[in-house]
Amino acid sequence: MKAFRIVILTAVFSSILLVLPGCNTNSVSQRSTIWERELGAVLNTPEDPNRAHKDLNIKVDLIAKGSYGRRIFREMSPRYITIHSTQNYTGDAYAHAKALKRGALRGGVIGYLCWHFTVQDDAVIQHIPTDERGEHADFDGPGNRYSIGIEMCEHNGNSQTQTMERTAKLAANLMYHHKIPIDNIRAHYHWPRAGYSTPNKNCPHFLMESGKPGDTWRWFVGRINQHHQRLIAYDEAIQEQKRLEEEARRQNSIVQHVWHRITNWLRIG
Ligand SMILES: [Zn+2]
Repeated sequence: MKAFRIVILTAVFSSILLVLPGCNTNSVSQRSTIWERELGAVLNTPEDPNRAHKDLNIKVDLIAKGSYGRRIFREMSPRYITIHSTQNYTGDAYAHAKALKRGALRGGVIGYLCWHFTVQDDAVIQHIPTDERGEHADFDGPGNRYSIGIEMCEHNGNSQTQTMERTAKLAANLMYHHKIPIDNIRAHYHWPRAGYSTPNKNCPHFLMESGKPGDTWRWFVGRINQHHQRLIAYDEAIQEQKRLEEEARRQNSIVQHVWHRITNWLRIG
């Protein structure tokens, strides 16, 4: 009887294990659907890049030049944007700014971590200029050498969706200003860390599927792309406006010229 019970329990347990990955897949595919519903679709109207930049509410609070994460000046021409999340459930963006400015976060090649921006639901704080390299991704790898690092806050009380949306808009703005293509938006996961048993970090973890980029990550990159398209469309709309004004001026001058000729001819006549 006991053996029979063990067989039954094993069978039940195995079938639960078989069902679980299916449940995961369902809940994962629902995550971005829920977020998209909460945020609403990105508008498809042009948006002024300067206006969009102001709306990001960026506070520049840099680590002092020559100290901690900026103790060595290392120029960077940004080609990528790397997205992280803090996995810190108590510290907001201001706490991270303070920690970076007093060298409290150790690690990386020069002994101190640093990255460019920390985003929370209602603000962005900039810690280092975008033309200086940070220490946030992969030691001396391309993630640090060529990418702008953005950390998303996860502290209690912070809206995760609004933080993601502000991050998507910030990334779109940086793409616009630095001419970075959408393919160069990377999760921290994409930059392997040499010497680690798990070189590809599960970061930003809430946008990964089983620790890797999947549908949810693609949804997030899709939103960055849509915000970027709005900024590009604004430039195109201005170009079109200029073209129309130029055409109107040209037609007006032709009319004036013909009118001048006619009045001259009548006078002569
Ligand atoms: Zn990370």
